[in-house]
Amino acid sequence: MYDPLVDAYPNEKQTNPDSYWKAISGPGPEDDGHLEGEVDADVVVIGGGYTGLSAALSLARDHDMKPVVLEARSSAWGCSGRNGSFARISGGRVPIATLIETYGQDVARGYFGEMRAALGTVRQLIAEGNIDCDVQPDGVYKVAAFAAHASGLEREATLYNGTFGYPARFVPPGELKNAHQGAEAFGALYFPDGFAMNPLKLARGVHVMARAHGAAIHTNSPVIGWQSEGGVHRLVTPTGTVRTRKVVVATNGYTSSKLHPRLSARVLPVHSQIIVTQPMTSEQIAASLPSGNCMFDTRSLLFYYRRLPDGRMLFGGRSAIAGSDAENPKHRQYLANAMIRKFPALEGIGIDYWWGGWVAVSRNSLPFVYRVPGLSEVFWGGGYGGSGVSFSLHVGTKLALMAAGKPFDTQASFLTREPTRYPLPPLLRFGQRIAYRWLQSKDKRQASAK
Ligand SMILES: Cc1cc2nc3c(=O)[nH]c(=O)nc-3n(C[C@H](O)[C@H](O)[C@H](O)COP(=O)(O)OP(=O)(O)OC[C@H]3O[C@@H](n4cnc5c(N)ncnc54)[C@H](O)[C@@H]3O)c2cc1C
Repeated sequence: MYDPLVDAYPNEKQTNPDSYWKAISGPGPEDDGHLEGEVDADVVVIGGGYTGLSAALSLARDHDMKPVVLEARSSAWGCSGRNGSFARISGGRVPIATLIETYGQDVARGYFGEMRAALGTVRQLIAEGNIDCDVQPDGVYKVAAFAAHASGLEREATLYNGTFGYPARFVPPGELKNAHQGAEAFGALYFPDGFAMNPLKLARGVHVMARAHGAAIHTNSPVIGWQSEGGVHRLVTPTGTVRTRKVVVATNGYTSSKLHPRLSARVLPVHSQIIVTQPMTSEQIAASLPSGNCMFDTRSLLFYYRRLPDGRMLFGGRSAIAGSDAENPKHRQYLANAMIRKFPALEGIGIDYWWGGWVAVSRNSLPFVYRVPGLSEVFWGGGYGGSGVSFSLHVGTKLALMAAGKPFDTQASFLTREPTRYPLPPLLRFGQRIAYRWLQSKDKRQASAK
C-alpha cells in the first residue's frame, strides 16, 4: 500500500480501497482525464479530496479564477472517499480543556467558531449542490469507554456550556441505553450538531459543483516534479506540465515526504481502518446501536462507529503503522475483536468490507491553513488529525481566499502558522510504535481503574 513516508506519490499500481462507500455509490462523475501537454493556469490545486475540491470550487465560484486540480488517482481517492462519514464540530485531536489551557479562552473560542462554521460549510454545500449523500439526523455521542472517564465528560460538558455557550450535555449511562447498548459505555457527552452521510457521494457532489463553475479536474495526474523560478512553478505529471504562479497543496495525509522539501516531515501520516459488517438482525440492532447516531469513544487509541442505514455496523480505529503492514489481516481482526468486546451480540457476524487510509497529524495535533514561507504563493491546508470531514471543506474555502490574495482573518491564530517539523524523520515510525504501545497500556490501566 502507498506509504507517504516511503513512496514519492500515489502511482497507478495503487488500487481503489475495497470500501463500502465505493460498493454502494455507483460510478464516479465525469472529470477532465489526465493532464496532457504544457498548460498554463491561474492556480493549481494538488490533491482532489475535500480540501482540494472545496478550494477549486471556491476559487472558481467566489474568486473568478480558473483552477486546475491535479489528482494522482481519482477524485476523492484519498481519505475523502473512504472515511467514517462523521461530519461534526471537529478538527484535530486536542481536548477542549487543553486547547483553552494552551492557547487561552479567546483563541479557543475563535477555533470553536471556525469548527462550527466548518459544519455550516458542509450543510451549505449539500444544500447548494443539492448533493444526494444520504444525510442522517444530527447527534454525536462521545462515549466514556471506562467508568473513570465519565466524570471527565461531565466536566467537558460544563466547559462547552460555559466557555462556548454550546449546549453539549452529559448523558448518564441509564439514558444512553436508548442509543448505545452493549459494554464499554459509562455515559456520554452528547453534541446536538453533527451528522453522518455517504462521504464519497459528498466529495463527488463537490467535484461536480467545482467543474460546473469552471474548474478543471485532472485525474491520474500525480505531481512527480516541482520546479520554481522567478515566481513561476512548473508542476510536472507523467503526461504533462502546468505552469502557474499560485499553488494550493491539498494532499493532507497522502503528502509524500518527496513532494517538496519545504513541506516534508510537517505532518505524520497515520493509518486509520474501518470494517463494515453484514446487515445486523433487528435483535442485534436492539442489542448494539438502537440509534443511527455517530459515536466515538474516549480511549487514547479511540474507536468510532455507527449503524448504517442498511443495518450494517461501521467500526473504525487505529492499529497499522506502516503501509507495508496495513493489509495484514491482524488489523482487521483487531477491529473485529474490539467491536465484539463492545457489542457481544455481534459475536459471529460476518465482515463484508475492510479498508483504510492515511490521516494527517501535525505536531500540535491541530489543523493548519497558511501561506508557505520561502515559497512564492504556495498555500497549504491540512493536519485534521482524522477529524477532517467538515474542517477540510472549510479549509478549502480559506485556501482559496488566500490564493486570491485576500487575508484569512481568524481569532484562532495557530491555524495560519507553519506547522513545526517532526524531529528525526527516519525514526518517525519507530516513535509511533512506542507511542501506540504506551497508549494501549494507558487504555488497559484506565479499564481497570474505578
Ligand atoms: C478510515 C478513515 C476514517 C475517517 N473518518 C472520519 C470521520 O468519520 N470524520 C471526520 O471528520 N474525518 C474522518 N477522517 C478524516 C477525513 O476523511 C480527512 O480529514 C479528509 O477527508 C481530508 O481531506 P483532504 O482532501 O485534505 O485529503 P484526502 O481526501 O486524503 O485527499 C488527498 C489527495 O491528494 C492526492 N495526492 C497525494 N499526493 C499527490 C500528488 N503528488 N499529486 C497529485 N495528487 C496527490 C491523493 O491521491 C488524495 O486523493 C477519516 C479518515 C480515514 C482514513
